[in-house]
Order: sequence, then C-alpha cells, then structure tokens
Amino acid sequence: MAYRVDTATEIDDLLAPAGSKTGSVHCANCIHCKLVPSPAEGEGSYYLRVRCDAGKWRKKLGEEKIYKYFTVARRSIASCDHYEDMGDSGDFLRDLRTTLPDRDELYSK
Ligand code: SF4
Repeated sequence: MAYRVDTATEIDDLLAPAGSKTGSVHCANCIHCKLVPSPAEGEGSYYLRVRCDAGKWRKKLGEEKIYKYFTVARRSIASCDHYEDMGDSGDFLRDLRTTLPDRDELYSK
C-alpha cells in the first residue's frame, strides 16, 4: 500500500525497526492488512476499505472493524503478535503516503 509523513516522530517510527524502542507496528506493511472493495450506492460503484485478515481489528463488542483506505497509513500499534512485514517498512510507507488518496474516493468497475 502507500502514504505521507507529517511529524518528526512519524519519521523516527518509519525508520525504526518494528517493535524497537521508538518504533511501532504499521499495519499497512503487514501481510494481514488487506485492501477490499465495499459496495456503494449505484451499480458497479465501490469504496476501498482495509481489514486485518488476522482478525485483530475489533470494535468494543467484538465486531470486526474496517477502515477507509485513505486512512491506512494511520493504522499503527505498539506491537502485534501476528505482524508479518512485507519488506522495508520505511521505503514502503514513504511511497504509500505519497500515493494514498486524501479522502474517501468512489470507484467504478
Ligand atoms: S496482524 Fe497485527 S500488524 Fe498485521 S494488520 Fe493485523 S493488527 Fe496490524
């Protein structure tokens, strides 16, 4: 996936290995972070959403939580026992932040 760096802390996080002292796990760089279409009103139209296929994103009552694609760069946690990185987190997240849409966009097939 892709993204934008706004603060020095975020830059430090991007450059630090996952799970290190200053780093955190960025879900976008995890193999379990999946991009899925979500049907919208209008035939053939859809939005893009992201979900954790390891089932780690949950609402308080246990229901699965799904996020809008353009927010995926913000999905980070201190650590995750299911995290499987997909390569160089720093380069990947920098590229992702530059290519992510800045709002929830409607797509058509
Ligand atoms: S398995 Fe963990 S790190 Fe991977 S997407 Fe799910 S919550 Fe994020």
